[in-house]
Amino acid sequence: MAKATAKKAAASEAPKKAAAKKAASSPKKAAASTPAEQESLLKKLFVDGLKDIYWAEKHLSKALPKLMKAATSDELKQAFQEHATVTEQQIVRLDQVFEKVGVKAVAKKCEAMDGLTREADNIVSETQKGTMSRDAGLILASQKIEHYEIASYGGLAQLASTLGLEEVKNLLGQTLQEEKDADSKLSQIAESSINIEAKKEEGEVEKDEESEESDPA
Ligand code: FE
Ligand code: FE
Ligand code: ZN
Ligand code: FE
Repeated sequence: MAKATAKKAAASEAPKKAAAKKAASSPKKAAASTPAEQESLLKKLFVDGLKDIYWAEKHLSKALPKLMKAATSDELKQAFQEHATVTEQQIVRLDQVFEKVGVKAVAKKCEAMDGLTREADNIVSETQKGTMSRDAGLILASQKIEHYEIASYGGLAQLASTLGLEEVKNLLGQTLQEEKDADSKLSQIAESSINIEAKKEEGEVEKDEESEESDPA
């Protein structure tokens, strides 16, 4: 007697309505990111960003005196000198930021700043000492540096604000303004004199074989 016809059990009619009701009444479960967790993630991003720019500023404070020595014009030398001083103050300001956030001030290598300062070094080795072309190249390289800093501080100040760290936001905002000022100063130097002088240098090289410069009028 081996005849057991499998009979479909049509019995259990799942109570779908009950299940739906249950799901609706248990909301807070399985939320992968509660507001608190989300804030701690943001805070981690923020602190990592601080460590990155801390390294970047320290690295830059060593690079700027070298750029100053390499520059040709007094105007650009002075701009680098001034920004070196400002950079020292920015490092102190970052120390204050770390303190207010309650985190130990630690520098974490910023690959971007490392690369940007190497590009500046390359400009020095690829140009002649005492030329305005070198200055034009140094301005180009250092404006890339300033723009990196502007992006970093702009983003960090915004994050500080989101995290409710108003004092920290203001400190970062001060540095942000200084970076913007440095960038404008460099643009102004390039536009008012150095790029023009550098162009003349090119002309002088080309005209070497020909006669001296003639007045086209
Ligand atoms: Fe800076
Ligand atoms: Fe970085
Ligand atoms: Zn800067
Ligand atoms: Fe700067």
